[in-house]
Amino acid sequence: MNIILLGPPGAGKGTQARLIEERRGLVQLSTGDMLRAAVAAGSEVGKRAKAIMDAGKLVPDDVVIGIIADRIVKPDCKTGVIFDGFPRTLVQADALDKLLAGKGLKIDGVVEMRVDDDVLVDRISGRYTCAKCGEGYHDTHKRPAKAGICDKCGSTDFKRRADDNADTVRTRLLAYYKETAPLIGYYYCKGSLRPVDGMAGIDEVTSAISSVLDVLGRSG
Ligand code: ADP
Ligand code: ADP
Ligand code: ZN
Repeated sequence: MNIILLGPPGAGKGTQARLIEERRGLVQLSTGDMLRAAVAAGSEVGKRAKAIMDAGKLVPDDVVIGIIADRIVKPDCKTGVIFDGFPRTLVQADALDKLLAGKGLKIDGVVEMRVDDDVLVDRISGRYTCAKCGEGYHDTHKRPAKAGICDKCGSTDFKRRADDNADTVRTRLLAYYKETAPLIGYYYCKGSLRPVDGMAGIDEVTSAISSVLDVLGRSG
């Protein structure tokens, strides 16, 4: 099963994608994570993307489509993929359909995570992750069980993203509404859209997505 998690920055896509990966054996493909890895590695893609990401704008379609095209041919993607943060433009959505069709595959469903704009700013400004395993946390909504120690791997090293600041968040939200939100209508028309209330607690959102995936699994 191949699904897309669609929603604005801070909606909870990464959080839910990791949980689905753990529970259902699907592979999380986050273009944001891949681009940050490319920036950290200093690769050509990373050099092209860094300033754009810091400014909160979208990296060019050909770059992200190239990253996804290289990744989805790897054997671990056979069981199914959760696309997290991709596609973000109609051009990317078309390219993804073509890439999958070329392998006899398709998108089985698009989970739209609905979250109010004023909540997004709070979610993004309180976000941090474990520097070792990548587990996501939040200053108020998701703290480690023992302060300063990662629940997953025991590391005491945490980090915050350079682009998670009030200025950049506005640019990112604008990019979302201009370029990504049209995908909601696109997938609605294709009959794939499955809206979920992203305002609920993390566990409730997981249950809601899980129910959606159960239905998709039965029909697909
Ligand atoms: P996205 O990948 O959509 O940008 P994240 O999954 O990184 O969003 O979530 C943004 C922040 O909000 C993180 O700090 C995360 O711990 C927190 N968060 C995620 N889902 C919820 C939720 N349902 N309620 C409260 N906080 C949440
Ligand atoms: P968010 O928390 O905003 O969902 P991501 O980790 O998904 O953040 O993305 C971080 C940044 O990486 C984006 O602001 C953008 O610059 C770049 N990026 C990630 N995915 C894409 C994509 N599919 N198309 C263009 N740019 C992307
Ligand atoms: Zn960890």
